[in-house]
Amino acid sequence: MKCPFCGAPDTKVIDSRLAADGNGVRRRRECLSCRERFTTFETAELVMPKVIKKDGSREPFSDEKIRGGFMEALHKRPVSVEDIERALMQLKLRIRGTGEREIPSSVIGDFVMESLKELDPVAYIRFASVYRSFKDIHDFNDTLEKLARQQEEREKAEKAGGAKGSSDK
Ligand SMILES: [Zn+2]
Repeated sequence: MKCPFCGAPDTKVIDSRLAADGNGVRRRRECLSCRERFTTFETAELVMPKVIKKDGSREPFSDEKIRGGFMEALHKRPVSVEDIERALMQLKLRIRGTGEREIPSSVIGDFVMESLKELDPVAYIRFASVYRSFKDIHDFNDTLEKLARQQEEREKAEKAGGAKGSSDK
């Protein structure tokens, strides 16, 4: 692949190791041109089932949404990126393992909760409190969107707090 720093076409793999319980490969690469190093994470492209939303509409499974929900629930928690990657991969394998071509978003939500429960109790409670309160009336996607909004608000608040702190000096 191209170097993300200078765009040169040739990069060389200098280290390669299994990650996410052997479900992926992490490669350390070096650009032959600018010598910058970077890491790629490679996984099989799984054909995921479509997600059936509460209103009956279907949408493609979104890695990004699930990852975003995980990251928000795990905000500032002592969980390594490696453990998160492993959990995400296991989650995908589990969803795919149902053998269904379409899967209700509520089932995915339950899987996510179980996955977080194993990963970190605080993240589990964060997610569950938002998810459960929404479950009956809304969709799992609403949970993810609400979590994303909370994160944005917190980041804004943190920035505002930081700015205030520096002007106090
Ligand atoms: Zn380069």
